[in-house]
Amino acid sequence: MSHFSYQDGVLHAESTALPKIAEAFGTPAYVYSKAALLENFAAYADACRGRDALVCYAMKANSNLAILDLLAREGAGFDIVSGGELLRVIAAGGDPNKVIFSGVGKTEAEMRLALDKGILCFNVESIPELHRLNEVAGSMGKRAPVSLRVNPNVDAKTHPYIATGLKANKFGVAFDDALDTYRTAAALPHLDVVGIDCHIGSQLLDDAPLLEALDKLIELIDTLDTEGIHLHHLDIGGGLGVDYGVAGDKAPVPVGDYLGRLFARIDAWGAGRDGGRPIKVIFEPGRSIVANTGVLVTKVEFLKPGVEKNFCIIDAAMNDMMRPTLYGAWMDMQPVVPREGEKAVYDIVGPVCESGDWLARERALAVEPGDLLAMLSAGAYGMTMASNYNTRGRAVEVMVDGEQVHVIRQRENPAELFALESMIK
Ligand SMILES: *Cc1c(COP(=O)(O)O)cnc(C)c1O
Repeated sequence: MSHFSYQDGVLHAESTALPKIAEAFGTPAYVYSKAALLENFAAYADACRGRDALVCYAMKANSNLAILDLLAREGAGFDIVSGGELLRVIAAGGDPNKVIFSGVGKTEAEMRLALDKGILCFNVESIPELHRLNEVAGSMGKRAPVSLRVNPNVDAKTHPYIATGLKANKFGVAFDDALDTYRTAAALPHLDVVGIDCHIGSQLLDDAPLLEALDKLIELIDTLDTEGIHLHHLDIGGGLGVDYGVAGDKAPVPVGDYLGRLFARIDAWGAGRDGGRPIKVIFEPGRSIVANTGVLVTKVEFLKPGVEKNFCIIDAAMNDMMRPTLYGAWMDMQPVVPREGEKAVYDIVGPVCESGDWLARERALAVEPGDLLAMLSAGAYGMTMASNYNTRGRAVEVMVDGEQVHVIRQRENPAELFALESMIK
């Protein structure tokens, strides 16, 4: 169920009216539902119950400590893409031994930090990275657990900026080079080759490309078994999509259905795997855990009718939510307290000095200055991509738990934004 619903004509997060939050904490405000978060994680955890599986939440989708803490307490691991994210996991009480480290450009310092904290696995994306990791581990007298991110060359049929599994992408080792790369890795003295992974793209509404990628990984695991390289885990990445309310989009495949099909294939194969070796399954979901746990609440500042377009100018901007500007993403915008009356068609834009600063286009709304709007499904890749462009402090983040409202990140004030700067003498 959705934990954001209209009650007596007012949009609520769980049992809390959004205008109450706007009044107490101002706008723009990210508002999350704790129940929604736990429900989304449970969909993965339930489908994994009784199996050797680990759900590593891809925290770049939303890395607020409160969210990490809640997920860690449910048993989540984390997929990180920087040393900074590892420090967040630890600050939130997460277990480094459930952390996998993805990304094409890991620095020596990040490798050292991750080895020192004892992470579960490095997802390595290139041969030079294997050599660097081998050297860093050797210098510390350690062995680094590695998995190769293989690029299965599967078309995820999503936006070019969020498709990552094609030959033309910067990510992963090409499928045809994978065997040689594994041989290289296995020969390096300070690496332990433990797994295989892929991540083919994001906002996938269908699981067919994911299952196709799974088949290719299985094929490679079988080949590696014949070479005496026995992998302990298979990491299928993240990528499952959510319902953004885009007209004409089909409903995303439910998490339980996808995992059911995936485990069925793994079970059918696993029985026949070389020596009956077991395999642990790892997932890296981001969006499907957090997107629909959050809304961005914003206030209408001005209405500006025009010859070609009407503009609805709000107090949130591209620096608060970059997905429309960056990907041309369609995000649903709804009035918090819908009004009667005639609707007009508006482009909903922010105050930032860029023509790219729009949050929604051509939306029919009955709206007046001072009204609140909610951008729905804003919990993923919202706050984590926010910037201080135009010296705008980032929005407050609150988490609703029934009728309780917790501030989980304060609104930034302008003085903090230039506190690290200094003038030259
Ligand atoms: C971003 C990312 C994810 C999460 O993707 P979602 O589409 O949000 O599920 C998982 N794995 C890797 C390597 C990523 O870069």
